Amino acid sequence: MPIFLWVDIPVLTALNLLCIGVNLLAIGLHRHGWLVPALLIKLTSAFVLIVVAGMLLGNDIGFEYYSFIILFEIVISDLHRRYKMMLSGVLLGMFLAMLQWLFGLWGEWSLGEPAREMLHAFNLMVTFILITFIALQVYIVTETNERRFLSDAYRDSLTGVFNRRAIIERADTLWHQERPFALLLIDADHFKQVNDNYGHSAGDKVLRHIAQLLQQALRDRDCIGRVGGEEFLILLPDARFDEAVGIASRLREQLANHPCRLGRQTLTVTLSMGLSLSHEEQALDDVIDLADRRLYLAKFSGRDQMIAEGGESFGIMVRGEVFTGPESTDEL
Ligand code: GH3
Ligand code: MG
Ligand code: MG
Repeated sequence: MPIFLWVDIPVLTALNLLCIGVNLLAIGLHRHGWLVPALLIKLTSAFVLIVVAGMLLGNDIGFEYYSFIILFEIVISDLHRRYKMMLSGVLLGMFLAMLQWLFGLWGEWSLGEPAREMLHAFNLMVTFILITFIALQVYIVTETNERRFLSDAYRDSLTGVFNRRAIIERADTLWHQERPFALLLIDADHFKQVNDNYGHSAGDKVLRHIAQLLQQALRDRDCIGRVGGEEFLILLPDARFDEAVGIASRLREQLANHPCRLGRQTLTVTLSMGLSLSHEEQALDDVIDLADRRLYLAKFSGRDQMIAEGGESFGIMVRGEVFTGPESTDEL
């Protein structure tokens, strides 16, 4: 605007004002989801301004540089690739035409050579800065999206812990590194009743509460993933049997000591767990299956407990019962 006021050509000042108005309209359209019309009116108005400025002020002023910004915006837009190619072609044709025939058609630069050179340098610099700015914005958006997609791919959206794929991938990595680990398969007891009695969204809140508490009680190197509706899998790298049992009882203790608040009520959820160690089997799937069988046995034996090697039971903190062990422990 100051430039157009300085060169003192009212048509350009008026056109520039119109361009600002069109830009505001484009922002409004964009906010309402009209992306293509917003882009087209914005770029068209900018292009008209470039052409008219060149026609009135002549060649070598540097207004044509702004066409590169228009080209850049077309290329990064949401338009279909076919339209991008078409519009870029039209822009190239117009670009050549304006340099060849249009610029200087209605007037010539009259403020002297130093002023022309200054304006030329200014236009070049502004184009440079604007392209850098837009490219930076594109980079930031791409980065943010990439981080979000990565998080979506690896995190469970309800609880924020790893999802099934991510936790199994981590187990797989440990397995291939031949690093010993303990694996805990955990299932919340009678969870259906939570939903039935308090509603599904209260159930969701309880699941988040459980995941958060379990996560907090783990060591830095441990990881937890949600592998089913109310089922979690925990990996304890380098944990020996005693250590794993200690961690598991800490998890259950944590949950017993921190009931979930649902409005004015508090709700204590118990967990059943199956523990297996990586050296117990020859394949990762078998280690998981073993933990699953032990979890099943923990359920079968009254819930709220952990079953480990040989069917040994640990726990029952909340209900105060003691499990005496399965009749046959050969499978466990
Ligand atoms: P058990 O002690 O034998 O594990 O009993 P249970 O009721 O926990 O097990 P069951 O498999 O019968 O039911 C699991 C329930 O978990 C049923 C389902 O509605 C609930 N559930 C699964 N995923 C979600 C979830 O994302 N949100 C909520 N609120 N509930 C869920
Ligand atoms: Mg359950
Ligand atoms: Mg279950």
